[in-house]
Amino acid sequence: MRITDIREATASISSNIQNAYVNFSQMTVSVIAVESDVMRHGRPVIGYGFCSNGRYAQGGILRERLIPRLTAAGEGALLSDDGGNFDPRKIRDTMLANEKPGGHGDRAVAAGALDMAVWDLVAKIEERPLWRLLSERYNGGGHDERVMVYPGGGYYYPGKGLDRLQDEMRGYRDEGYKVVKMKIGAVPLAEDLGRIEAVAGLVGGNDVAVDANGRFDLETALAYGEAMAPFGLFWFEEPGDPLDFELNAELATRYSGALATGENLFSLQDARNLIRHGGMRPDRDWIQIDPALSYGLTEYLDIIQMIEGLGWSRRCLIPHGGHQLALALAAGLQLGGSESYPGVFQPFGGFADDTVIVDGWAEPGEHMGIGMEAKSAMFAEIQRLVG
Ligand SMILES: [Mg+2]
Repeated sequence: MRITDIREATASISSNIQNAYVNFSQMTVSVIAVESDVMRHGRPVIGYGFCSNGRYAQGGILRERLIPRLTAAGEGALLSDDGGNFDPRKIRDTMLANEKPGGHGDRAVAAGALDMAVWDLVAKIEERPLWRLLSERYNGGGHDERVMVYPGGGYYYPGKGLDRLQDEMRGYRDEGYKVVKMKIGAVPLAEDLGRIEAVAGLVGGNDVAVDANGRFDLETALAYGEAMAPFGLFWFEEPGDPLDFELNAELATRYSGALATGENLFSLQDARNLIRHGGMRPDRDWIQIDPALSYGLTEYLDIIQMIEGLGWSRRCLIPHGGHQLALALAAGLQLGGSESYPGVFQPFGGFADDTVIVDGWAEPGEHMGIGMEAKSAMFAEIQRLVG
């Protein structure tokens, strides 16, 4: 059993949306195919992956470092001990050989995309949905039949007023979502409060999450926290710089509502530092590490072990990214939920075409592997780019 080819390409997910920090006019993702010599139904089994939105494609790192290391690996070096499948951990260790510790940035994003393709391949060779494979291997067979999902939306668009914001949120409710999320921090506090009020008036403050995308200094985060407290929001996401743990910890002592952060932390070590130093409260706060940005599912398994070792429940984990990998993880490993992107970052955002959302819950489905073939517009683009 061996990997016969690894193909990568850059896909555009550009759009005219923006959050408090960036616009997405130039946004790209890396798309990867890992082809094996395992045959099913007369065709080679291929695993597919892509990096999550927001950090751009990582073709240079993939082409110059990660992929050549796998291509050069000796016969059998990437296989499970019994030789019956590929071993994602051996593959992870091989692709990251000779990489110094620390500085978990774009490299973690590149590895996350490649690792996604590897897990898709491994589950397809087992002829199982990934979430079932994860449940069996790592969760004693436990799994969730349905996963709490919420749409990451409420972006700032040119000329978007309160009416259009409300229309967007009404649309999510019509699609079956319960909790909705909106961006804050790109306009003055008073204007944002009007936006929050408009959405809370529609769906109820308890079902509104707000996301500042790391924009605020401590003073601004505290001012927002104080002004937003009466809404009883679902969570206040990424108030300050993702690596400013002191800011987060200080805010947590003064804002009694739930905080959520972690989508811009890219490693086990960074996640551990957040838990140790970020003041996050295990009885109410949410950790949003995205496996497709942070070395992949293999690293995420270690992150689950780490947070449980520090007294947290895995139910506090709700991965960022709104992709099928996160939904599979959440179902098979019984996490707290998954983000969803029904309207943005197309064609990569969101779940399989047949995924139905009911009262804010999604079922993971029975598609083999991660199930990208069942998200037709995305899969057509993946096939066009990497075959
Ligand atoms: Mg966010």
